[in-house]
Amino acid sequence: MSNIRAKKSLGQNFLMHARTAERIADGAHIENQTVLEIGPGTGMLTKPLLARATHVVAIETDKALAEKLTETFASDISEKKLTLIVGDVRTFDTASITRPYALVANIPYYITGEIIRTFLTTKNKPTSITILVQKEVAERIARSKKESLLSIAVKTYGVPAYLFTVPRGAFVPAPSVDSAVLTITGIHMPFKNEQEETRFFEILRAGFAHKRKLLAGNLTAVAKKETISKAYTASNIPPKARAEDLSLSVWQNLVQNLSAVD
Ligand code: SAM
Repeated sequence: MSNIRAKKSLGQNFLMHARTAERIADGAHIENQTVLEIGPGTGMLTKPLLARATHVVAIETDKALAEKLTETFASDISEKKLTLIVGDVRTFDTASITRPYALVANIPYYITGEIIRTFLTTKNKPTSITILVQKEVAERIARSKKESLLSIAVKTYGVPAYLFTVPRGAFVPAPSVDSAVLTITGIHMPFKNEQEETRFFEILRAGFAHKRKLLAGNLTAVAKKETISKAYTASNIPPKARAEDLSLSVWQNLVQNLSAVD
């Protein structure tokens, strides 16, 4: 570890405490299954994952780190317990994993939103996601009474939970904010088809498009005023509601009613 220089451009903040890595692995709901780890880095989290999983597939974009990992985990690789892929997770084909898998990731914060969305909407979804995110992002998704585009999107596909806080001092170099471990369990496909999924997110995105506007005003981008008014009555939504006030079930009801009267 001492001779590894962290690359800021790849969001490298390495976890220093083996005990924290164990706690993350414990929280990852691994039941004799395959784990897909994104960004193994120096392998701090890979070790406890290997101890719990039947097989770990780890994707690391940094070639120098991948070379080190090849040395550190030489026996796990030769026993085919660990498959190390050198590449960018954003071009990874989830169809290449042929068994149910749990996703575990401590990746740069600038791609967490994209990774969560990609893995929740891909055809071959993980059974669970365990991911380190900025503390306030985990709070917004799993604890806040006010909803956001991301919190509703996550709840559409699974059940988020805030597991525990990881202070910035647990990493080297220390990031400027504290982190938290977020889990999403019970991941499933809630839509009958892709068309329904596309329509739901079209309406959701429109609803959250302008924070200061009332929800009804935002929705005029995707439906007629009269349609919105009928759907509001059918869904019992107060006229002054904002996108952040609606729970997932109210959103689902609203989308259904908007489509019914459209
Ligand atoms: N998991 C390690 C730990 O907990 O110590 C490293 C965490 S560090 C925050 C993020 C890791 O993700 C780095 O090793 C970095 O090189 C890797 N990474 C960054 N972008 C990536 C990408 N697009 N695909 C795969 N790995 C990526």
